[in-house]
Amino acid sequence: MSRRVWTKEEILEVYNRPLINLIYDAATVHRAHHNADEVQVSTLLSIKTGGCPEDCGYCPQAARYHTDVQNEDLLSLSHVKAQALRAKSSGSSRLCLGAAWRNVKDDHEFDHVLEMVRTINDVGLEVCCTLGMVTEKQAQRLADAGLYAYNHNLDSSEEYYKEIISTRGYEDRLETIGNVRKAGVSVCSGGIIGMGETAEDRCAMLATYAGMETPPESIPVNALVAVEGTPLEDQTPVSIWEMVRMIATTRIVIPDSVVRLSAGRTQMSDEGQALCFMVGAGSIFAGDKLLTTPNPDVNKDMELFSILGITPMEPYKKGEQPKVNERYKSNEDPEKRIKWSRPAHTIERNEVKKEEAKVKS
Ligand code: SF4
Repeated sequence: MSRRVWTKEEILEVYNRPLINLIYDAATVHRAHHNADEVQVSTLLSIKTGGCPEDCGYCPQAARYHTDVQNEDLLSLSHVKAQALRAKSSGSSRLCLGAAWRNVKDDHEFDHVLEMVRTINDVGLEVCCTLGMVTEKQAQRLADAGLYAYNHNLDSSEEYYKEIISTRGYEDRLETIGNVRKAGVSVCSGGIIGMGETAEDRCAMLATYAGMETPPESIPVNALVAVEGTPLEDQTPVSIWEMVRMIATTRIVIPDSVVRLSAGRTQMSDEGQALCFMVGAGSIFAGDKLLTTPNPDVNKDMELFSILGITPMEPYKKGEQPKVNERYKSNEDPEKRIKWSRPAHTIERNEVKKEEAKVKS
């Protein structure tokens, strides 16, 4: 069956429907495409924290801002394995490894990450990585190590992206998503609301995803967690109603993907989260930390699941377990010329924060 192609204007019409109708419409679509009483639980683990050279205006891990984040080197394999076992025993079906890198380099650290991927795959969890930009060959090496999914968010519309990040462009993001897709890895890609963008920006981002030949299998919807010291520290938190609207709209225009209720859950009531599940959220991040920002405790999540009659999804329910290919352990074949865009672009508020950080340190 062919998929409907949505324009930004059509998506905006959905987004602006009377909320009471939007909730009903999205809940109906959700039940036609998914088991509404099953939610996929992922654990997110920061394997290399802080010191990132990028200037994402929302991120406390960017080296140029003055935040409380302490830099940490790459975690050991034994630590990651212990976390994987812990995540599995507490109901997660997926472990996501996050590294504060601009892009993956063909070096010993990448080899170490490939080992982590193999190890977690052996544990029987879906493995996801979010490591910044990757080339096609790097994506292939990750796939051959047993990677199940790769996360790389578009964050917002192409227009608004330029107001948030200057150190790389939208086309760089799309290129990495394309590289992941070519390697046969499941794509996880979504956005953040509450960064000062308009409803049009939110819908334009959804139009980009809905217009892809294969939309991301997983679409995280994050509410900005405004962290002191970042350029977006003064943003007003989004209301639960905006979150419900965004999840519901995503559900309707991209019905087959799993929509993930991601950052910002600590600011939401149980009732608010229940509404998000009702309109189409089919996944959450568990664990008391999302990289560096707070997240509800896993026991609290399980309590809420029990009240709502939700069960955590088993691993590989939506795809097969990747087979590890031993032939791809080699670290040869670095890309000779990797060109990422936007070398001279600057965003004033990001520059201001960088200067303030210099004065404080
Ligand atoms: S979001 Fe990722 S790429 Fe951007 S500054 Fe943070 S760690 Fe770096």
